[in-house]
Amino acid sequence: MRWTLYVDLDAYYVSCELRERPELVGRPVIVGPPPEAGPSRGVVLSASYEARKFGVHSAQPAMQAARLCPTAVWIRPDHEKYGRVAGEVRRLLARFSGHVVPLSIDEAALSIDAESVEAVRAVAEQVQTALRTDLALPASIGVAATRVVAKIATDRAKPAGIVVVPPGEEAAFLAPLPVRAIPGVGPKTDELFRAAGVTTIGELAARRATDLARRLGPSAKYWVRLARGEGTDPEEEESGPRSRSTDRTFPADVARWEEIEGAVREMAEDLARGLEKEELRYGTVGVAFRWADFTRSQRSRSLGAAAEGGAPLEAAAARLAHELWEAELSGRRRPIRTVSVRAERLSARTLRQVSLDDFPPPDVGPEAQ
Ligand SMILES: [Mg+2]
Repeated sequence: MRWTLYVDLDAYYVSCELRERPELVGRPVIVGPPPEAGPSRGVVLSASYEARKFGVHSAQPAMQAARLCPTAVWIRPDHEKYGRVAGEVRRLLARFSGHVVPLSIDEAALSIDAESVEAVRAVAEQVQTALRTDLALPASIGVAATRVVAKIATDRAKPAGIVVVPPGEEAAFLAPLPVRAIPGVGPKTDELFRAAGVTTIGELAARRATDLARRLGPSAKYWVRLARGEGTDPEEEESGPRSRSTDRTFPADVARWEEIEGAVREMAEDLARGLEKEELRYGTVGVAFRWADFTRSQRSRSLGAAAEGGAPLEAAAARLAHELWEAELSGRRRPIRTVSVRAERLSARTLRQVSLDDFPPPDVGPEAQ
């Protein structure tokens, strides 16, 4: 039977850095703008599990993290490195499956054929061991018949664990978990579930989709089916990586177009380099501004055919940014706090080449190690 192995690298950016600085293993490490570089309005990108014990987490303001964990070692983010390592991970995973779908820079879903729970668990252990020994990257792995249940299992496996959900046991596995454990259920949806009297996935399974749809919209049907272990939309299962983005918070709010354009072009170039390393093409480009008053505006555009390289991304991002900026000039004229550039509708650029050229000869494959 066919399984999905959902691989999620633990504290990915930190792990990429520890490969080069093994003396820091076991210490609180934070990837983000170092506080000694001066007061910053940036955020934590990733924190080691030792730093998390102090309450540090990703997306937290760097200043707050520095207060919570004064002994942490800070490392400046190196996105080019993270993209390069993601490419190494993809080539490693391709040794185990001809069908690897990268879902974010540190997550991928693998299709694996195996006859039993024991057999698929053994494959998951091999993948985990190969990531640790060949690439020095700790990973958590969830295994199930569908991608979404495998993803939920992965979250339960963190850090560095393996959780297998046998077919037929999905509903029992999910029942005690909070609805927040479902990918795509954020604080807002969680609130709506609470208002409807649903806090666990088990409670969700007992409800009728039509009753919940009034509050929760058409997704209610999908969630109830998932909660009952009834499988999911095959299209969702097949879909590839969703997006990559990069953002920059300016040291002080910016009101000059030249400065904004320079930042957008630089970020687009950075993002394109990362995609190049990951061997991904993109079909849609988006730009978002967070204004000084913390409200947000965004705009995105499809490029038609999938593009690769820096030029189309940079041109589209600069154009979108200019449109947003012009619209603002005719109205409220707020300065900008944070800029984000995003690439969406990603597809593997050289999946064929990866599987043919980079496949190791049989004598050094995983079986021989
Ligand atoms: Mg991760």
